[in-house]
Amino acid sequence: MAAPVPISEVKGNSRENRTAAHSHIKGLGLQSSDGRANTSGGGFIGQAAAREACGFVVDLVKAKKMSGRAVLLAGGPGTGKTALALAVSQELGTKVPFCPIVGSEIYSAEVKKTEALMENFRRAIGLRVKETKEVYEGEVIELTPEEAENPLGGYGRTISHLLIALKSAKGTKKLRLDPSIYEAIQKERVRLGDVIYIEANTGAVKRVGRSDAYATEFDLEAEEYVPIPKGDVHKKKEIVQDVTLHDLDVANARPQGGQDIMSMMGQLMKPKKTEITEKLRLEINKVVNKYIDQGVADLVPGVLFIDEVNMLDLESFTFLNRALESPLSPLVILASNRGLTHIRGGESLPPSAHGIPSDLLARLLIIPTHPYAPAEIKQIISTRAKTEGLSISQPALDSVSQLGEKVSLRYALQLLAPASVLAKVNGRDQGRIEVDDVTECEDLFLDARRSAQHLNSTSGYIV
Ligand code: ATP
Repeated sequence: MAAPVPISEVKGNSRENRTAAHSHIKGLGLQSSDGRANTSGGGFIGQAAAREACGFVVDLVKAKKMSGRAVLLAGGPGTGKTALALAVSQELGTKVPFCPIVGSEIYSAEVKKTEALMENFRRAIGLRVKETKEVYEGEVIELTPEEAENPLGGYGRTISHLLIALKSAKGTKKLRLDPSIYEAIQKERVRLGDVIYIEANTGAVKRVGRSDAYATEFDLEAEEYVPIPKGDVHKKKEIVQDVTLHDLDVANARPQGGQDIMSMMGQLMKPKKTEITEKLRLEINKVVNKYIDQGVADLVPGVLFIDEVNMLDLESFTFLNRALESPLSPLVILASNRGLTHIRGGESLPPSAHGIPSDLLARLLIIPTHPYAPAEIKQIISTRAKTEGLSISQPALDSVSQLGEKVSLRYALQLLAPASVLAKVNGRDQGRIEVDDVTECEDLFLDARRSAQHLNSTSGYIV
């Protein structure tokens, strides 16, 4: 029986909400033999030349030949620029940080522009830390919260303990755990049949995946099936943790004892705006370098993606130029759908390509993205519908695809989820989206052009 242990939570730096629209993208989908792109691959449809060019960039990064340089993806809205940048980070390795921002995000009343940029640079640099820890690991075969009267009185009962049984290849162990671990287990969405481990000292819970004994239950693409762990349930295990330099900055900006890197990670909490000084960052870099030298940690430079780069101003571009030279720089991928335009903060200067100053332009590898052919649009929409688990009839798919051609791919993709809700409301067989649902959605949600027309034609509005 294990003693109850406290829990502290380790948070990663994922910005899932930003990348959820690209969950069908698994990589650039290039052939391993010659780096060529098939018509489709890695979740991508078309955009073959851009995917191949991005493949070269991945090779350059791996050969450490991108330092001081950056990439610019130039193309119209919805031509896959964000998806390509994400795929580059996936090709660089698993758990490589991907930090997507929009140029305008760096302006705030509280934080200086260059400070905001620096923060995002550090979000895009990972640190992989290896440590041997005492854990309880196995497939969850019992998960029973034990209730008790609320000690503070009032309504309801509270969880007093959690009974959990873990099974490994060598045996089974029953643990009685602190209720705080129950919260951690709920956060990780652990259910029976999952393989998890619980760190003995901190009580941190990690869901490893679904036991492969359940592999045939559903055909869920997102599910990762793992074998039942070897050895005993209670054992020493090498644990690899991925954090970003920004996570470490945040963890140390709050008052706390100890400079040990694992304790820093153990104490990560909700990121909030705290004062992260240059001095603190230098100190973190020192500790990080020490751990790298000792072979405990590896640096994992990721990808900083800056969309709508024309929103950056002269001062930010100067910062970018300097930051690219740093040995601690992630791969910076900029994106623009503007042609010749004024540089923000340099309106008296002649317009510049993409609103980027010439000294930065000279450092860029520029990759164009092209509009999609109708068949490609249809295939992208169909892939998205499948990934979102939506059922759509062939005529409805044709109708959404036509919107993708006439209006924009983004608009068409955005209609899928509400159309599916409507399909259910309209009592469609198995919730399958039909043409009428698409038409109804189109009436409910305007595209940008119709919205502007609506305002122009409605008296009382100032446009
Ligand atoms: P914006 O300029 O508006 O930011 P973008 O060029 O970054 O647009 P994305 O956001 O990458 O475009 O693409 C819009 C949607 O279409 C996303 O869901 C993306 O994953 C999907 N998509 C775009 N291109 C492809 C492609 N070639 N294959 C599969 N999916 C794609």
